[in-house]
Amino acid sequence: MYQQILEMLLGKYGDLSYSELTETLRKDGLGEFVDAIENDPHLMELIADISEEYSPDLSGDPEYGIIPVGVQQVIGIPVDYHGTIRFDPQACLKACKGECCRNKNYLMININDMFRILSSKGAQFYDIDSTIDLFDRKPPLVELFYIEKYRLFFPYIRYLPVGADVHTRPENAEESTCPFLHPIHEVYSYHKRALPPWASKDAWGCMLMEDKPTVCRLSPLGRSAGMVTGKVTYEYLPPAVDCPACETHVEVKVSDYLSSMVSSAEEQQQERFHKMLMSYHGAATSKEVDRNRVNEIINHVYNIDGLLHEYGLDSQHRPRVEHLVEMVFAASHGNFSVYQQFIDDLRRRV
Ligand code: SF4
Ligand code: SF4
Repeated sequence: MYQQILEMLLGKYGDLSYSELTETLRKDGLGEFVDAIENDPHLMELIADISEEYSPDLSGDPEYGIIPVGVQQVIGIPVDYHGTIRFDPQACLKACKGECCRNKNYLMININDMFRILSSKGAQFYDIDSTIDLFDRKPPLVELFYIEKYRLFFPYIRYLPVGADVHTRPENAEESTCPFLHPIHEVYSYHKRALPPWASKDAWGCMLMEDKPTVCRLSPLGRSAGMVTGKVTYEYLPPAVDCPACETHVEVKVSDYLSSMVSSAEEQQQERFHKMLMSYHGAATSKEVDRNRVNEIINHVYNIDGLLHEYGLDSQHRPRVEHLVEMVFAASHGNFSVYQQFIDDLRRRV
């Protein structure tokens, strides 16, 4: 039976290498299936038998991680909310070419970041005005990856390969760069703003400016929340090796830095999302929740404009992000009625 399934999958995804195939399967929520294959030497032999094309890859990278290659989980130095960090933001324009926006391959963002990007002036630079533009372009600007730890999909900005065909996956390129990174004079000129006098002509910056994802705005501070208690902690995480803005003489209060970068409304949205995550995580061993259905709904919710398009509707009909999160939240508890109601409502509008 496994052989038939594998043959069918290799037929369907025949233009992918083995690692790309497994990545695709994991993105489709079939991580357990991939694990079952990879933990069974007999099944791995089957793959080699089915297609020679896949066999060379089997002896390659042993890490078939869920998180794509190039996304590293880095641990920083814990800092107190009432403490200080040493960080000079002027150095980003004085002495750097946006090193922290390069060579990560993918950058995890959150659902609020995604919609903030959509409504930003920076997005217009790329003719982005719907989730379809984010997900369905070739190559996509944003991709969803299934994170085994949470058993959920999360959106990631996909970096662009440097010096290679634009369709090359960033992890297969020697260098990659965030698609929103541009020479600083282009950024300021597009936004019709005067360049700060300390900016070097070689500096690079983010076309999204203040609408950049939360993780970028917070950098070099990392924020995490516990999965059991929800307790929020912060860490100081220099975003690039030899970052010229870090460890300088300029001292910044953590609390001031946080409030200047993230509004209280955003904080609340994040808290709500995290509570959902904790609750879903807590129920992760329950067999009652149809996780494939949950993740199918999440895929539709993230590319909401794609879903609306299927019903002949445009993004004017897009629900508020709180309602989208609500759908994910309900579905993650096995309650599919909120999503179903939304679909029924769409059908009535057609
Ligand atoms: S934070 Fe550091 S690495 Fe990033 S742009 Fe500023 S100086 Fe460069
Ligand atoms: S979104 Fe902007 S700040 Fe974040 S990595 Fe990309 S270019 Fe850098």
